[in-house]
Amino acid sequence: MALIVQKFGGTSVGSIERIEQVAAKVRKFREEGHQVVVVVSAMSGETNRLLGLAKQITSKPSLREMDMMVSTGEQVTIALLAIALMKQGMPAISFTGTQVPIVTDSSYSKARILSIDESKIRTELDVGKVVVVAGFQGVDEQGHITTLGRGGSDTTAVAIAAALKADECQIYTDVDGVYTTDPRVVPKAKRLEKITFEEMLEMASLGSKVLQIRAVEFAGKYNVPLRVLHSFQEGAGTLITLDDEESMEQPIISGIAFSRDEAKLTIRGVPDTPGVAYKILGSISDANIEIDMIVQNVAKDHTTDFTFTVNHLDYDKAMEILQNTASQIGAREVAGTTNIAKVSIVGVGMRSHAGVASQMFGALAKENINIQMISTSEIKVSVVLDEKYLELAVRSLHTAFGLDA
Ligand code: ADP
Ligand code: ASP
Ligand code: MG
Repeated sequence: MALIVQKFGGTSVGSIERIEQVAAKVRKFREEGHQVVVVVSAMSGETNRLLGLAKQITSKPSLREMDMMVSTGEQVTIALLAIALMKQGMPAISFTGTQVPIVTDSSYSKARILSIDESKIRTELDVGKVVVVAGFQGVDEQGHITTLGRGGSDTTAVAIAAALKADECQIYTDVDGVYTTDPRVVPKAKRLEKITFEEMLEMASLGSKVLQIRAVEFAGKYNVPLRVLHSFQEGAGTLITLDDEESMEQPIISGIAFSRDEAKLTIRGVPDTPGVAYKILGSISDANIEIDMIVQNVAKDHTTDFTFTVNHLDYDKAMEILQNTASQIGAREVAGTTNIAKVSIVGVGMRSHAGVASQMFGALAKENINIQMISTSEIKVSVVLDEKYLELAVRSLHTAFGLDA
């Protein structure tokens, strides 16, 4: 008998019919003798619908109230799934994040899990019930409801699996595993049998939304066996593994990630003196805006240009701060755009192969795609380009690195 945590995403619980199908699937695992904790998302589209309601009132709603509201999406699906399970003769009970409790910090809309009290879940499992837990939500130490960021139900599932020392955490979704790149953009993408935590972490942080990045972080840290599977099709899915014994035979590149969520800001003609980077980027960080890529260039006239990227949702705020800084330090001009995309190639195989980056640049040059920024790490190369070339870039890199099915 194993203890399994199963997470079903928005499309998998998107209608009453699907919820009943999920219940039947869960029941099958119970009947095989396993203990099952199920984590569910809100019905597909519901989170966006709720966010839209508040935005009709104001563009800057209170983040506490937004979390209060948006957490209701998951409260509906946990109850519906528990009802569906009971109808099928399976004892079940649902819990919100507050009831478990899943304790987080107080950063509304992007809270981090601090601790999970697993005792209530265990008690219900021990009397034979399926425990259904709301994804995406928690409660801070003062009792306020928080949410974990978009896609956060993945993280709830992995964190519960870690707390319960579950035998496996299964992420059920609308694709049958992790692919070399988003199969909706590149139809020739291939499903991976397995991928290392390290690679999955890069893929997730560089934009592959199949798993939330914190979920992968948690799974790696607490050694939770993690698998991505299709909700309604049979198959082994993709296993996220700790290390890769066969890395010798691995392709150099395991996957291609991309993101449209970036924005680029540039400040030109900055006096090149010690401390300017701190003045410019420090004021952005102080506003709790995460900076991704940074490029600095010094010109002959002893001025310097900085270009950096932030999440597009932070663009307006970052621009306002940058304009203030520019007038304080006497910079020549400030510019920016949200019409950019980031494309990244990821693979542990890069460590043992030279020339991977230039192969990437070559493939993009062949398509006449201009590269605006570059950044590299041990197992990834990222480029920023004009958003309109995103799909062409991903497709041509997929072919160039021999990933096409
Ligand atoms: P859920 O609602 O189940 O959490 P998501 O929409 O969050 O589902 O994640 C699944 C989606 O992730 C897929 O439909 C697919 O379009 C997208 N995706 C992006 N990159 C990948 C990838 N490398 N492999 C598989 N799916 C990916
Ligand atoms: N419902 C939340 C969202 O849409 C959390 C999740 O689905 O994982 O982001
Ligand atoms: Mg998701």
